[in-house]
Amino acid sequence: MNFKSLPQLLDFFKEESTCIDYYEQIRWDGNPVCPHCDSERVYKTNRGYKCANPECYKKFTVKVGTIFENSKISFRIWFASIWLATSHKKGISSVQLALDLGLTQKTAWFVLHRIREMLKDKAPQMLGENNMVEVDEAYIGGKESNKHINKKRSYYDKALTNEGKPFTLKKTVVGIIERNGNVVLKHVPNAELRNMGAFISKHVPHGSTIYSDEAPVYSHLKRYYTHDSVKHALNIYVEGNVHTNTIENFWSVLKRGLYGIYHQVSEKHLERYLDEFSARFNTRSLTSNERFVKFLCDSESVLSYKKLTFSN
Ligand SMILES: [Zn+2]
Repeated sequence: MNFKSLPQLLDFFKEESTCIDYYEQIRWDGNPVCPHCDSERVYKTNRGYKCANPECYKKFTVKVGTIFENSKISFRIWFASIWLATSHKKGISSVQLALDLGLTQKTAWFVLHRIREMLKDKAPQMLGENNMVEVDEAYIGGKESNKHINKKRSYYDKALTNEGKPFTLKKTVVGIIERNGNVVLKHVPNAELRNMGAFISKHVPHGSTIYSDEAPVYSHLKRYYTHDSVKHALNIYVEGNVHTNTIENFWSVLKRGLYGIYHQVSEKHLERYLDEFSARFNTRSLTSNERFVKFLCDSESVLSYKKLTFSN
């Protein structure tokens, strides 16, 4: 199968049984495994499988333990949603997905959040082993004029603006990008060293080369890395290899998507949107078909509606 377009994908996945066979092959490689106890001894039943382990004996289908669990939507529509959500460069809103595929907006919203769960990196990525790395922070939402108060957030938590309204604080996101490589992102409470340092150490091996702007928080990087900073304050943006243009370009795609497609992203869900944008960016050299298959292989995780709406 090599789908080049959404109509081709929908043509192939006309029948639910075709979708199930395809997904069983991707998930189990033809050898079903019980999702409750990991037993490989299972019986085929009319509607799925039954575990042959006498201590388990539970029934299951290929959907159990994946993002598709407990969903009434057909695989066909799920596959189309994954195709659309991962191939639009700036993402797709739940309103648009609902219109395109004939879902309610509430259902489309839930489908998209489960897809974001699927897009999340399952293991920490290491950057900077083979190439130079740029690190930077971005501020999302809130008023531009409130940007400076992020750094002293605790003082302003109860403060009011001149109009008597509470400040809408911008949300801080730290990003690390490898030139010609991947990006990793994290939503942090603020741009202080305790939030940034551990994240950088987790993703960039000591001894790598890192470029940043001249913010004081990055001055500690010299202890573990070859570090240089651009002097934005002096209007110097590029000096040989020393620049942060790669991450700046990524921020502009992220912001155009978050503001243009999603309009408002709550603090609670921001991390999931970041997973979505980094996953799309990190697979930019793949075809839509390769991306579809890759992400389908990562679909073993469940995000219940309850967890999505009631937890933090
Ligand atoms: Zn079992």
